[in-house]
Amino acid sequence: MQLYNTLSRQVEEFVPYNPPHVKMYTCGPTVYHYAHIGNLRSYIMEDVLEKFLRYEGYDVKRVMNITDVGHLSSDADTGEDKMLKGAKRENKTVMEIAKFYTEAFFNDCRRLNIKYPDVVEPATNCIPKFIDMIKTLVEKQFAYQAGANIYFDTSKVKDYYCLTGHNEDELLVGVRDDVEEDTNKRNKSDFVLWFTKSKFENQELKWSSPWGVGYPGWHIECSCIACKHLGEYLDLHCGGVDNIFPHHTNEIAQSESAFGHPWCKYWFHVQHLKEKGGKMSKSKGNILTVSTLEENGYNPLVYRLFCLQSHYRKPLEFSYEVLDNVKSAYDRLVARIVNLKPEGEPDTEQVRRYHELFGEAVGNDLNTSSGLTILYDMLKDDLSDATKLAITADFETVLSLGLLEAREAGLKAASEDSDDEFAKYVESKIAERLEAKKARDYARADAIRAELADKGVVLKDSREGTTWEKAK
Ligand code: AMP
Ligand code: ZN
Repeated sequence: MQLYNTLSRQVEEFVPYNPPHVKMYTCGPTVYHYAHIGNLRSYIMEDVLEKFLRYEGYDVKRVMNITDVGHLSSDADTGEDKMLKGAKRENKTVMEIAKFYTEAFFNDCRRLNIKYPDVVEPATNCIPKFIDMIKTLVEKQFAYQAGANIYFDTSKVKDYYCLTGHNEDELLVGVRDDVEEDTNKRNKSDFVLWFTKSKFENQELKWSSPWGVGYPGWHIECSCIACKHLGEYLDLHCGGVDNIFPHHTNEIAQSESAFGHPWCKYWFHVQHLKEKGGKMSKSKGNILTVSTLEENGYNPLVYRLFCLQSHYRKPLEFSYEVLDNVKSAYDRLVARIVNLKPEGEPDTEQVRRYHELFGEAVGNDLNTSSGLTILYDMLKDDLSDATKLAITADFETVLSLGLLEAREAGLKAASEDSDDEFAKYVESKIAERLEAKKARDYARADAIRAELADKGVVLKDSREGTTWEKAK
């Protein structure tokens, strides 16, 4: 597969360290609020990437963290603790908030056909691991203590900005939501590994550490959770573009300094979903969720199709007008699939040919819209319905648009409709027979019984009237 690598800033052939195994890590949600459909754009595209790698024969192990501690409102260690903010807003404990929004997140994922990762690990499960890595960084003199916190010294790494290629000032302006200056830092870009001097009076979550009671910074969790489940070499690391700096930049600095060797080969970043007003953001409050879409009458999978129609490296603007068009396209697609009447065996040569075509299209830097074009063209191609259905099933292992499930539901509804029609017809014949009997037209009554018998209907007369059933 060809994949754009943020680290090299070019499209490259994807070659994992140890094929066919792929060690894939995804930054999970910060569980202080519902995920908005922007966050879910990233998770949908990461899901397609994972499934496509499996489609191409890779054995993927995917790990996701859950951020339930340490993420402050500015990614650069300033502002309010996001989890505390959520807990305060809802008058609950941080752990209650974390549990509730973690479940809500995976509920949303399920409705969008996003596969549950092989491993999901909340940050608060791994504090001893974080402490171990921080200890190593302090020992190797990549970290220092100042004002009772532990900081990573970014001047100690050779190429701190390797992931961005941008200059320091430009990037630091981007992440600084407020003007709060941490005077403990030796360099502007240094970041907190461990907070011991908490600035939050009611910091609920704190742990003992060699540096005193406190809690971890945000970035350390992903380096440690990835290492815990995937070892010291990672093939693929994913997130939204806002994660590139400082979060992923800091992950690389920590991991490579602690391990003493290069860490992750490929960095995959999804561009943002925007609204007319700009980037969609949880902290803005009024957010669009999967439930909002459902309340407005949209199947969440229509939103999945909306995302797959665009390239993941292009910003995408959300609007209900566009979503309405996608909904019509989705309904037409489902109708096409429901109308397939497979007979006989699929043509395996064609299934194989289309498997390759789809692989080439999507394998071109995850070009999902080309993959969709192949699906549409295939449905118009001169193939048997059994072959079309088999190819659709093959593509669906990657697209996951629920097309086969929609087909099942459509066929069931159609058969229920025709059952209803049939029942109405039988009832009308029974009424007609009753009238004939009343008029002593027994020949007509018998003819009706015979007509129904031909259609497999058995009539049973009793004092209460006539009932019917289908002959067994
Ligand atoms: P968070 O829960 O804020 O930690 O974010 C979860 C994931 O969503 C991260 O990978 C972010 O980079 C990503 N993300 C945040 N905002 C957007 C957006 N508007 N569009 C796409 N992805 C986003
Ligand atoms: Zn992360």
